Amino acid sequence: MGIAIFAAFLIAVGGILHFVGLRIAIEARPDIARAMGGVLTQAEQDKIEEAYQERLRLIQENLQATTEELLQIQKIKDRFMEMATPSAVKSQIPGGNAKGGPLKPASFKSTNSSDLVESLDESLHNVTAFKKSVQEVHQLWTKQLTWLNALPTGLPVKGHYNLSSGYGFRIDPFTQTMAKHEGLDFAASVGTPIIASAGGVVSRAGYEAQYGNMVEIKHAEGFMTRYAHASQILVRTGQTVKRGDIIAKVGNTGRSSGPHLHYEVMRAGAHINPANMLPKEH
Ligand SMILES: [Zn+2]
Repeated sequence: MGIAIFAAFLIAVGGILHFVGLRIAIEARPDIARAMGGVLTQAEQDKIEEAYQERLRLIQENLQATTEELLQIQKIKDRFMEMATPSAVKSQIPGGNAKGGPLKPASFKSTNSSDLVESLDESLHNVTAFKKSVQEVHQLWTKQLTWLNALPTGLPVKGHYNLSSGYGFRIDPFTQTMAKHEGLDFAASVGTPIIASAGGVVSRAGYEAQYGNMVEIKHAEGFMTRYAHASQILVRTGQTVKRGDIIAKVGNTGRSSGPHLHYEVMRAGAHINPANMLPKEH
């Protein structure tokens, strides 16, 4: 789609250059321009020139607005790349399968007839329609980005870590028996920042025998995340947090056999493998 937008943009620029060329022809060689456009009197030529200038200005305005829109879309695309939609939520992106309006490139007709203004009107119409579809794409992408940003798809630690224990059944380090491990363990040194993997509201922050110092955050779409064994808690219950906010520090409190973050993701009360919510490389 980026290529289509860029191609349409080039076509539009080409069109402008074409018309500028015609204008120069009118000034430099009125006889040729007259022959080309069938202009008979100076008054007619002036009238066309005036109408033509107005339309050219409008086309340029629209192209300028569209260029700014494209720059905004580029920024959103960069944010998307940063976030790399995890497979677990991909099918739920609102409007994910919808096309962002018809991306019909603006077309410019070259004309040898006297209806230059009419042709410019058509070009103006096309450029305006193009601007509108770019705006629609921009709006759709903004909506998707906002939605994705609210889901726990980010990393819960900031700094160096090793994934020390995966989700699922394992030998419990304390009882030496098979037990279900409902989260992902990020081994990191004490004090490493623990960050909110998405925006939300802190629903629990305090000490529990098993989890030690722990924080729970409620997110959109019924998601909840839990961060356990912290050495220090930096948020209060009821506090609103943004994705990436430091909420606690890695520690070894509660039922923990070494400094690490125990990270859980739940949806509607059921555990999800956090690895499925993380960017692809994890
Ligand atoms: Zn764990």
